[in-house]
Amino acid sequence: MRISDPKLLERLAELSVELRPGAKLSELTSLGIGGTTDLLRITKHESIPGLLKLLDANDIPHKFLGGGSNLLVDDGELPWVVVQLASPKPDVVLEGNLAHVDAAADLGRTVTFCAKHDLGGMEGLIGVPGTVGGALRMNAGAYGMQIGTYVREVKLYRAATREFETLRGHQISFEYRHTSFGPDDMMLAVILELPSKPYNEILKGIRICNEKRRTSQPLGQKSAGCIFKNPPGASAGRMIDELGLKGLSIGDAQVSDRHANFFLNRGRASAKDMLALISDVRERIQKSYGVALVNEVVVWNA
Ligand SMILES: Cc1cc2nc3c(=O)[nH]c(=O)nc-3n(C[C@H](O)[C@H](O)[C@H](O)COP(=O)(O)OP(=O)(O)OC[C@H]3O[C@@H](n4cnc5c(N)ncnc54)[C@H](O)[C@@H]3O)c2cc1C
Repeated sequence: MRISDPKLLERLAELSVELRPGAKLSELTSLGIGGTTDLLRITKHESIPGLLKLLDANDIPHKFLGGGSNLLVDDGELPWVVVQLASPKPDVVLEGNLAHVDAAADLGRTVTFCAKHDLGGMEGLIGVPGTVGGALRMNAGAYGMQIGTYVREVKLYRAATREFETLRGHQISFEYRHTSFGPDDMMLAVILELPSKPYNEILKGIRICNEKRRTSQPLGQKSAGCIFKNPPGASAGRMIDELGLKGLSIGDAQVSDRHANFFLNRGRASAKDMLALISDVRERIQKSYGVALVNEVVVWNA
C-alpha cells in the first residue's frame, strides 16, 4: 500500500514520522520473506495518537513491526502499511537494579549492556534476535527463563482506549509465549528489575547458552526461530523429528535438518511455500499424534 496524497505526506512530516516508500519486508524480516509496502518510522512516542488517527481517517490499515524475527509476511504488494518505532539514543538507561529500556532497543545489545553493568538474569535471551518490544509482546524466553519475570513496569499505547498507559508487572500476565496485552497494543518502553551478578559470572552463563544454540540451531540461516509453540509437556521439534520430517521441503522452504522446529528459507522461498510447509507438517503431526500444533511465528496474510 502506498501513501501518495500530498496532504497526508505533509501531515506525516509534521508528526515527525519518517516515510520509507516501497519497503521490502523480505529485507526487514529474518526469514527473508515478504512483499512490499510503505514503512512509517515513528521517531517520537507522542506522534502515535496523531498517526493512528490519520491512518484510520484515511482507511489505511497498519501492522506493527519490531525487529521482524518472528514474522512470516505474505508476498506481493501488501494491503497495509507497516509502522515501526525508531530507537532513541540512548535506548537503555540504568538506575541501580532497574533498566529503563525503549521498546525499539535491540534485545541482545540490551542483555549485553546490562551484563557489563553487573545486571544478570537474562542470559538465556542472548541469541534471541529482535527488539525488546517484540520480546515483551510474546514473552520471549529460552533455557528456562522468560523476559516477563523481570518486568517491573511497561509503558504502552492501548489500541482499545487510544491512551498511553503504564502497567505494573503484576498487572500483566506473562505465560509461555503469551501475554495479556491486547492484540493491537504497542509496547513503548519497559522497566526491567534485574538481579546483581558479577559480569564474569553472567558471561559464563551467556557462553553456555551460546554454545547450546550453536550446537542445536541452524544459525546464520534465514529462519524465524521456532515455527510452532511446544504443546503442554511435549516438544514440537521432537515430534517433527520423530516423523522423519527434517529436510522436508516445498519450493525453497525447508524443515531444518539441525532443529526440526526451525523452518528455513533456503534462498527464494515465498510465503506460499512456507505456509504450505507449515500446513503439511501440522497435518502430519495431527494425524500421527492427535496434537494440533499452534504457530509461534506470527503470520501476516495479505
Ligand atoms: C534464530 C532465531 C532464534 C530465536 N530464538 C528464540 C528463542 O529462543 N526464544 C524466543 O522466545 N523467541 C526466539 N526467536 C523468535 C524471535 O526472535 C522473538 O519472538 C522476538 O522476541 C521477536 O521480536 P521482534 O522485535 O523481532 O518482533 P517482530 O518479529 O517484529 O514481531 C512479532 C510480533 O510482535 C509484535 N510486536 C513487535 N514489537 C512490538 C511492540 N513494540 N509492541 C507491540 N507489538 C510488537 C508484532 O506486531 C508481531 O505481532 C528466535 C528467532 C530467530 C530468528
